[in-house]
Order: sequence, then structure tokens, then C-alpha cells
Amino acid sequence: MYEDVIIFIQEVYKNKEFIPLHEPKFIGNEKKYLNECIDSTFVSSVGKFVDEFEDKITKYTGAKYAVATSNGTSALHISLLIANVEKDDEVITQPLSFVATCNAISYCGASPVFIDVDKDTMGLSPSSLEEFLKNNTEIKNNQCINNRTGKVIKACVPMHTFGHPCRIDEIKDICDNHYIFLIEDAAESVGSSYKEKYTGTFGQIGVMSFNGNKIITSGGGGCIVTDDEYLAKKAKHLTTTAKVPHKWDFYHDTVGYNYRMPNLNAALLVAQLESLDNFVKSKRKLAHMYEEFFFNIPNCDFVKEPDGCKSNYWLNSVIFNNKQQRDEFLNKTDANNVMTRPIWTLMNKLPMFEHAQCGDLTNSEWLEGLVVNIPSSANYE
Ligand SMILES: *Cc1c(COP(=O)(O)O)cnc(C)c1O
Repeated sequence: MYEDVIIFIQEVYKNKEFIPLHEPKFIGNEKKYLNECIDSTFVSSVGKFVDEFEDKITKYTGAKYAVATSNGTSALHISLLIANVEKDDEVITQPLSFVATCNAISYCGASPVFIDVDKDTMGLSPSSLEEFLKNNTEIKNNQCINNRTGKVIKACVPMHTFGHPCRIDEIKDICDNHYIFLIEDAAESVGSSYKEKYTGTFGQIGVMSFNGNKIITSGGGGCIVTDDEYLAKKAKHLTTTAKVPHKWDFYHDTVGYNYRMPNLNAALLVAQLESLDNFVKSKRKLAHMYEEFFFNIPNCDFVKEPDGCKSNYWLNSVIFNNKQQRDEFLNKTDANNVMTRPIWTLMNKLPMFEHAQCGDLTNSEWLEGLVVNIPSSANYE
């Protein structure tokens, strides 16, 4: 039966010899802008493409401010710092995510607390969050204190898995009620919206990634979006070595970071952003084809976008009935040069996070064993 799936995917991708999970497409002004950038000699940390990108991503998402960064991980790190996450603080996140989210929490000297995801969104579950906070925390002096550790839960970082928005409005309300700062990890969901509002614009801060495997890419890059001018200024300051602007003086008022996006990368990204809506359209079409096809395939279900949202379907995924079927599928597709991969190992099972506090993780555990990503590149000539 998996033969049918392999044949279908090969037909979709016109019988290419090797079908990757996700490859970038450069079909617009990429070369033009890159040449322009090189000719200008401004290839590094300042230049018009960085400004242009920041301006265009705010217009696209509706966020008031944007700060381009060297990658999504550095954007997460700075976001946590400007949320005042400090050593010995705690940050709630989901165990089902790419490791970058937890790494950024660790860079601040803080610890992750893992709360379960919803089965349908694969993103942080508001009901699990509410339940955990009710049973384990109390509010003191406008701070959310974890009763087990005595530490402050400063922030919450939900993630929009594979581009599918989680129930971010409910999460926002819960965070607000508990004095918890909300940072959306929208690394995978650039171009996705929830209740007609773009992901990344619900929290105080949203983070995006433009790594080579994401829906649009700058080679490497990321971005912080926010409506808060103070936070935006702070983010810009910290990502640019905390240099106090002056014509010639080198004066830095705190330990800053070199987390700028180079102009060369921004040139590529400005061109990619022009194609974003076409990529989303193409990927949604592909997802629809997959949905219809998998309807007739036994033992596995195609993962549809949750209700009330428009997903960018960055990575398509299917859920098997059991692990043996999943492994058989991984092996057969691999043997046929069709790239597939299982969902991440849960973060609480990695050595550096194995002592982290966890809520009930039933849904995450369930998804971990059964979800597989299938080829998802935007597919048109
Ligand atoms: C890709 C990704 C990141 C980090 O992005 P980089 O640009 O690779 O640093 C963070 N979180 C999630 C969920 C991601 O998928």
C-alpha cells in the first residue's frame, strides 16, 4: 500500500530522481537584488535591503515593528532577553518543537517547563496550560510563581507546528491573566493566519525564521515582530552590539550581540517575500491534493489545518496507526529516494532538558511516535 503513496509523491514531483522534504524556490527577483546588493558594496550589517525587509514584513503581517536578525534562534534569544527572562527564571513551552526554542531559553540561564500540545494543532494546548497553572502556580506581586520550585514563570513560547496555528488567542488570555509574557515561535508559520490575523502578531513578540528549509529563506535569517516600540528599540539595540548611536564614538551601554541580518541575506529575503503569497497558494494546493489522496489510504491520516485558520502548510504530515507502520513507511520512502522524516524527539527526552518539569504530556507522546513529514516543496514551474 505504501507503494501507492510513493508513486503518488513521485508523480506530484514529476519523477525527480530524489525528492527532498523541502527545497527553496528562487523564481523572482533574487538574482537581481543580490547583484544590486553586491554592486552597492553594502553586503554586510547595514544596507537598504535590511530596512526594506523590515518595512515590508510589517506591512505584510500588520505588526508595527520588525527587527531582522541573523537567524531564528538569535531572534528567540533576544526576545526572551527583552521579556526580562533571566537566570533561574522559568519559561513554559511545548516539548514537541525544534530544539532551537529550548536552546534559546537555556542561553538566558532559564529552564523550560513543558506543557502538552493539542492533538489537532500539534501546538501548545490552552487547556493543558490553564490546568498546569491552576494546579502548580500562584500569583504574587504580579508575578507567576511556580509552587514546586519557587521560581518565576516569566514567559511562554508556544510554537505553530509545521505552519498550523495553535489556539493562540486563548493562550494569550491565559498568559495575560497570569502575568506571563507571550513570545510566539512563528518560525514555521510565516504566512499563516489564525482568525484572519497573521501568526506572530498575537503575542507581545513574534519570532520568524528564514533558514534554508523554511517557506521563504534568506539563506540564514530571522526576525522579531512586535507592536511595542520600546521592545522593538531594545531588540534592535541588543542585536547590534548595544552601540549607542553616534557619528564616531564607540560606546556600548550593555553586553550586546552581533545578531544582525547581513544586507546580502536581506536582498535574497526581500525577493522571497515577494513570492510568499504564491508559495502559500501553491503549498495549500499541494496539501489539498494530499488530503484527497490520503483519504483512501488505510492506516494513516493526513494532518489538516485546524479550524478557524489558514495554514501555510510549510510541512505536510501524516499520522500512522502505530509505530511499526510508521517505521515501514520511513524505510520504504527512504529506499525510493523520497525524503520523509519522523517528528522531533520530545525535548524532555534530550539530555540537557531531561530534568525539566513537565505537565501531563499524553498528546505529545502520542504524536511523537506516529507523525511523519512528507515532501512539501512549493511545486510549480
Ligand atoms: C527553524 C526553527 C527555529 C530556528 O530557526 P533558525 O533560523 O534555524 O535558527 C526556531 N524554532 C522552530 C520551531 C523552528 O522550526
